[in-house]
Amino acid sequence: MPAEPKLSKIMDVSLTRSCNYDCSYCNQRQELDQPMYDLSESKRKIMSNQRRKGPEWIAGLNAFPYKADYDKLIFSGGEPSLHGDFFEIVTQVKGWRSKLIVTNLSFDVQKLIAACAREKTKVIVQPSFHFEFSQFDEFTGKLDKLRAAGLLSNFIPVSIVHLPDRAESLDYRDQFRRRGYNASLYRFEGYYKGKFSYAPLDGFGGIKETKEVLYSSCVQPVKPNGDIVYCTTDTYSEDCVNYGNICDQHYLPIPNEITIRDYGHRHISAASWTRARQPQTGERIWQGKNFRHRTTSTRLRNFLENKNYSWLAAAKHTVNTLQNKLKKDRPENQTNLD
Ligand code: SF4
Repeated sequence: MPAEPKLSKIMDVSLTRSCNYDCSYCNQRQELDQPMYDLSESKRKIMSNQRRKGPEWIAGLNAFPYKADYDKLIFSGGEPSLHGDFFEIVTQVKGWRSKLIVTNLSFDVQKLIAACAREKTKVIVQPSFHFEFSQFDEFTGKLDKLRAAGLLSNFIPVSIVHLPDRAESLDYRDQFRRRGYNASLYRFEGYYKGKFSYAPLDGFGGIKETKEVLYSSCVQPVKPNGDIVYCTTDTYSEDCVNYGNICDQHYLPIPNEITIRDYGHRHISAASWTRARQPQTGERIWQGKNFRHRTTSTRLRNFLENKNYSWLAAAKHTVNTLQNKLKKDRPENQTNLD
């Protein structure tokens, strides 16, 4: 099989698996050892949540010698702000192309703004509005402060999961727009009320039969204990292969593609970042919407996202609308809904 260009890679550091919310649609409910069912029927699954302290994260991420291989560094969770040294970590880690926080925005944004000013650094906040727990007025008040400080993502200023039977998703999307925020609706991934959506069931649905595939991931997750793993699926497993540990400052080479034998039991949250191919022919079985190579257009996209231009949200909305129109009749329509 011919060599392919480099992947556009993201390092996704989960500072903690804990969360102060308990959304009924949280995909951290999926059990890997049984068929996937409606997520609201099970509990949030927290695997090992042994956490590293702030100074360990700061030293490890600052010393990481392969930063240039990654287009972004994301701090996520659970809810990353529940880490006791959250503000220090996100502002004292430096030298990456861009830093992003994926959050439910339950933290005090004024503290983040002050810490960024103190450290003379920028971290872009990409908040999700979880309507079962967040209050609209409080949430938008925080968006106002972040936007004024230049820390709110203009690429994805607010995201809301679209649940087909919940009017709130659309209602809140419209309320955000009236308030001046171009909220994006995201397709729910997994089983919902008996229907499986987004990824192929025979890869991510936890069916009985598993198969061997060539597998590749654009996201390199890092567990709360600092272990670097291959794909998000591995963050739900205690005994997966790791590629070193950020906080121990010990790193191993990470292959572009590996062979896995459990395609059928991969975690749904890995689906959008990954690609699966037939081992013999290299024929593509699945490719998620966020699986990208480092092409000119990906570099441009990353450049614009890092610059965080104020017109990005409107531009992205227009592009998504066009893509959705073009792909409307295709079952694999993967773009965001709006
Ligand atoms: S805020 Fe996110 S991590 Fe927390 S319960 Fe909701 S969906 Fe899950």
